[in-house]
Amino acid sequence: MRKPLFLLFAFAASTSLIAQSPSQPDWTQLEAETMKHFQAIIRLDSTDPPGNEKPVVDYLKQVLEAEGIAVEIFALEPNRPNLVARIKGNGAKRPLLIVGHTDTVNVDPKKWSHPPFSADREGGWVYGRGTVDDKDNVVANLMTLLMIKRLRVPLDRDVIAMFEAGEEGASRLGVQFMANQHFDKIDAEFCYAEGGGGTRTGGVMKFARIQTVEKIPRAITVTSKGVAGHGSVPLESNALAHLGEAVGAIAAWTPPLRLNETTAAYFKRLASVSTPEEAARYRDVLNPDPKISGPADAYIRKNEPSHWSMLRTSLSPTIITGGYRNNVIPSEGTATIDTRLAPDEDPAKFLELVKQVVNDPAVEVTYGARDTRPPTPAAKLDSDAFKALESNVTKHYKVITLPTMSTGATDMAYLRQKGIQCYGIGPAADSEDGPKGFGAHSDQERILESELFRFVRFNWDAVIDLARAK
Ligand SMILES: [Zn+2]
Repeated sequence: MRKPLFLLFAFAASTSLIAQSPSQPDWTQLEAETMKHFQAIIRLDSTDPPGNEKPVVDYLKQVLEAEGIAVEIFALEPNRPNLVARIKGNGAKRPLLIVGHTDTVNVDPKKWSHPPFSADREGGWVYGRGTVDDKDNVVANLMTLLMIKRLRVPLDRDVIAMFEAGEEGASRLGVQFMANQHFDKIDAEFCYAEGGGGTRTGGVMKFARIQTVEKIPRAITVTSKGVAGHGSVPLESNALAHLGEAVGAIAAWTPPLRLNETTAAYFKRLASVSTPEEAARYRDVLNPDPKISGPADAYIRKNEPSHWSMLRTSLSPTIITGGYRNNVIPSEGTATIDTRLAPDEDPAKFLELVKQVVNDPAVEVTYGARDTRPPTPAAKLDSDAFKALESNVTKHYKVITLPTMSTGATDMAYLRQKGIQCYGIGPAADSEDGPKGFGAHSDQERILESELFRFVRFNWDAVIDLARAK
């Protein structure tokens, strides 16, 4: 290839010359290579459960080692390995970790117009499970490593890639195992992982989201107790009636509005690219005066539920159990409330508020067991990593960057807990595609080839801007 020759020359001439004008890979040539690797890993079924990420890891290992990039494998279960590859920098700065997960959610093959592991290309799309979650990030990180190595980019910080297992429900084998048992292998100042992405509407880029913080999943258990009796004799203490009222009150309640740096910036910036009507609402909801924020908040509750959840700790009743036969009033009923705490919420104080909402001595409100995530501080919006990402959103997508708080949980929580500042990124997708049944975790999954390639270029630049020797 031509580039390495040029680079070798430049190297000899001056390393600072490279630092100021890093050579760009030959993207046209690399698109074919990107597609080859992407299709190869889409064709390896790593649906979780059962996972079986090993064939994907074997593939990545073989590609990386063929280029002289050393890899290390860490596995709690033999078929579910994690792969770590590190390209060394000069140590002037702490490492950058880039993360992709190699497992996918399951499939129902009947629902697919193109078989889920075909990686078929049609009409500018690639079809297959994992195309947007998360084999897109996997291939972008793979290509970035290959190019750093081939172009011999001098680095101020190590670039570490982690290809992790078990993100879709078995994180004890993946990120938890790595963060708890092998943290020295992935310790970094910053990380990029899945969790953000661009939004296109009508084929036009609208904005890009970069995830900097997430809500903390908890469960509230509501238990009501009453006197058991014959169904033919109504009792005021009926446990199910009390439970029903409690659940209804919780669902109807509007928990206090709670903004943080990320969500405040999100709505402020979103307003700048919204219709005047929407923009007024996003500005109103940030207003400290409840008389102004209240009506906007009420509208958002009805019409934009995910935005409403971003504005507070949220409560969704998800399970109700009680009773066992037609003619018996049971003495107990329980409900589970999926609770997503705002990152700075005090869990104990919040529980007290819920108790006041229920306001029934026959009903007990407690935190129940569930898989949770550690509460972590948000990644900073003024860090070098965020700046690198934002400037490359401008460069590659020419839209505004929205710092975002996920209402759901991601593996980044385990890394942020260890002090790594993590940012969620991803390719652009059409907002029309989700409702049609294509998207992460949907019946079908696909990605625009052009957006896959653009994301690979974006990812490269965002890594290089942060890591190359300056
Ligand atoms: Zn994912």
